[in-house]
Amino acid sequence: MFDALSDRLDSAWKKLRGQDKISQSNIQEALREVRRALLEADVNLQVVKDFITEVEAKAQGAEVISGVRPDQQFIKIVYDELLGVMGEENVPLAEATTAPTIVLMAGLQGTGKTTATAKLALHLRKINRSCMMVATDVYRPAAIDQLKTLGKQIEVPVFDMGSDANPVEIARQGVERAKAEGIDTVIIDTAGRLQIDQDMMGELARIKETVQPHEILLVVDAMTGQEAASLTRTFHEQIGITGAILTKMDGDSRGGAALSVRRISGQPIKFIGVGEKVEALQPFYPDRMASRILG
Ligand code: GDP
Repeated sequence: MFDALSDRLDSAWKKLRGQDKISQSNIQEALREVRRALLEADVNLQVVKDFITEVEAKAQGAEVISGVRPDQQFIKIVYDELLGVMGEENVPLAEATTAPTIVLMAGLQGTGKTTATAKLALHLRKINRSCMMVATDVYRPAAIDQLKTLGKQIEVPVFDMGSDANPVEIARQGVERAKAEGIDTVIIDTAGRLQIDQDMMGELARIKETVQPHEILLVVDAMTGQEAASLTRTFHEQIGITGAILTKMDGDSRGGAALSVRRISGQPIKFIGVGEKVEALQPFYPDRMASRILG
């Protein structure tokens, strides 16, 4: 674990000959390596700065433990801090005390929101929670068809009212239908735009107000790296998210967005998307991501 970072730190330490414990100068050298690792993993710049400041304070205050190599001790501080930011444990999807649990999916177009809606439904179906998906993206009729096709594939019903209806009304009626049919979880797919715009935010806010979801999941494309931070900030400030799904983790992304999303919103990443297939969804484990980020 952390072989790449470990090698880097090792060389950083070696440069400082004779330094066999944590000292001011080797801390600085090691921090530079961590900073580089985080930036390579696409963690947002401000998040990296804050992270480094905290690790620095902890490393300076650390007692030298005899028998423990300083680089290993330092790595432990970094690892603990990563878990501190991302959360220690996987946080499961909320479950309402009275069914149905209502999940609102939010995010920009192309991030994998519709795919994630179906992935989540399949995941729930596999653990014996009945699901319904609701198609509210009336601006792209193809999006409704896409959800219906996915629904057929995973044998999950899709509620839609075509592309002439009002998205807020579709969401409301979809939830009513789920209630009437005794469905456990209703997942509402919403319209995304290429960029954040006020119409999209206003509509999401109205859907939220109308259906009072138990979970608002922001779908974030892990490949967008730095931008994930500003996206999260805007959605969280304007809508208030309860968690996120990080998609396209099967690409070359090292997952830095996980750190940015959690740090900025204070809300957990709940799942990661690891492929185009509808089965390609996994619960998010912070420790695995910490390993991935540190190389
Ligand atoms: P939406 O516009 O946000 O609803 O995005 P879609 O669900 O239509 O997905 C956009 C594209 O990303 C599609 O080609 C999906 O197959 C692809 N996609 C979604 N999730 C993943 C993922 O986890 N990994 C990969 N490699 N591709 C994904």
